[in-house]
Formats: sequence, structure tokens, C-alpha cells
Amino acid sequence: MQKKTVTVLAPAKLNLSLDVVGTLPGGYHDLDMVMHAITLHETLVLRRSRYLNVRMPGSFVPVNEKNTAVKAALAFFHYTGLLAGVDITIHKQVPVRAGMAGGSADAAGVLVGMNELYGARLSMSELCALGASIGADVPFALMGGTCRVKGVGDLLKPLPPCPDCFFVVVMPSVGISTPEAFQRYDRMGSPLHPDCDRQEAAIRAGDLPGLCAAAGNALEHCSGATETPAIRALLDEHGALTSLMTGSGAAVFGVFDAEDKAQAAAEALRARYKQVYLARPDRGGARVSQ
Ligand code: ATP
Repeated sequence: MQKKTVTVLAPAKLNLSLDVVGTLPGGYHDLDMVMHAITLHETLVLRRSRYLNVRMPGSFVPVNEKNTAVKAALAFFHYTGLLAGVDITIHKQVPVRAGMAGGSADAAGVLVGMNELYGARLSMSELCALGASIGADVPFALMGGTCRVKGVGDLLKPLPPCPDCFFVVVMPSVGISTPEAFQRYDRMGSPLHPDCDRQEAAIRAGDLPGLCAAAGNALEHCSGATETPAIRALLDEHGALTSLMTGSGAAVFGVFDAEDKAQAAAEALRARYKQVYLARPDRGGARVSQ
């Protein structure tokens, strides 16, 4: 029987490490990263319709042709040749301009949801190729789990799940534009280049302290986010094994080995910041939930 409605969960990501290792043709930055999906999800509800209609209730993100969800729906129809529409409601949980790939999660969620709704049976590699045409982080948002990610973010190597841990994620009041963050990196460079090989080895060995010792973000120094040091200091004070900015910012997170410590840290941070999230590693990517 044809489905009329599909609900999809699409996880946000954190960068357990991010290094800039060179420049690619076209001026893009060659990156080396370890990314992890987390249990902070976008929820998407897709319904069959004669028209294309995307809603993001309560979000200030404009729904126009630049919106990643709209781009994903159009790319899906173009690729499959389906003459149909879709009604998409996205309940956004992931903060915007956070370096947590919320926009990419929305695109991945739309692709997975439409594949299911219309029974198109596109493979993961077809979805990833479609996703990459929308944004560099969309293939990871589809794959999820733990991955070593290179290139502009499009070359993925799945890793074993990271050791069990808890993340406290803090989004400051001001977000960061990714292109502007890279422009600042080009002017300022970075004193920090994390060892992604060492971090990958620690993950393979199930070694949480080792994973944390190798964590770092080459974009943090030039991010321009004034609140990062204060947030990190609070996370560290409350027992984080490490703390760092994710992606091109502005969200900052701490890694904890025990839930009670993470909860206490989140509570302390909530006294100062409005957007504080407690999350765990998520082993999957964007997926149908019912
Ligand atoms: P990344 O880690 O991939 O750089 P980010 O968290 O820094 O992601 P997003 O929140 O995914 O950034 O997107 C930021 C910009 O993209 C905003 O300026 C927003 O207007 C635009 N955008 C387009 N579509 C979306 C969407 N569906 N959700 C969020 N932002 C979107």
C-alpha cells in the first residue's frame, strides 16, 4: 500500500576534530575531520501532495529556493522524474549557524522521506550523490554515526561507534556564517592542527580519554565568537574531558564520561545561555521513524 505520510528523524552532528589541510581547486578548503551524529534531531513530516510546500513552524529560516529542504525536494523530483508534489513540515530543533549541520540534516531528511513516501528505492550512494549537490555535509547527514570525513566534507569513511559518552552543547546568542569563518581562516590561519589519525585510532580502540586528548578545531581561533572561551571554561570546570567548538561555529560542546556530570554542567550553563542541549552519540543518520 502506498504511504500517505512519513516521519523522519535527522540527527545534527558535532566535529570531534576539524583540521584544514590545504586548498582544493576552486579555492575550497581541504578538510580532515571526525564527525559524529548526535541525538539532537530535526523531525520532518512528509505528506503526499499535488504541490511542493515546505513549512518550518517557529523558525526564522526563510523558506525559499535557497532553503536546503526545498533544494532537496526539487533535486529528488528532477532525478527520479516523478511528476508529483510533497508537503513537508520541519520541526527544527537544531540551532542555526551553529556548525551542527541543521540545514544539511533537513536536506538529508527530505531525501530519505521522499524516497520512502514515493517508494523510489534510491540507494544510499544515489542519495549521497544527490545530497552532495545540495551541500557538503549532506552525505554525512545521510550516513550518520561516526565518520572520518575529508575533502570539502564529501569523502566519508565510516568508523566504529565512539565510546559511550555524553555531550553538552551550548549555542551562544550569535551564530557564525560558514563562508565568513573560512575567509577569516585564510587571513589568520590557525595555531592548532588536531591529530585526526590519533583520534581515529582512539575511536577504534574504544579509548574515550584518547579521543578527547586528540580533539581540536582549526577554525576555533579565528571564529570571532567571543563567548567560546567562557563557555569552554564553564564546561571544563564542570568536568568535561575536553571542550571545543564544532564545525565553523558558533556552538561549543563538552564531552563527559558520566550522565550526572553532564547534567550538572548543562544546568550550570542554562543559568547563562538559552540554548543548551544534552545529547548522546547517535549511531545512525537521517531515517524513517514511522
Ligand atoms: P554547517 O555545519 O553545515 O556549516 P551550520 O549549522 O553552520 O551548518 P546551518 O544552520 O545548517 O549552518 O545553515 C546556516 C545557513 O543556511 C543560514 O544562514 C540559513 O539561512 C541557511 N539555510 C538554508 N536552508 C536551511 C535550513 N533548512 N535550515 C537551516 N538553515 C538553512
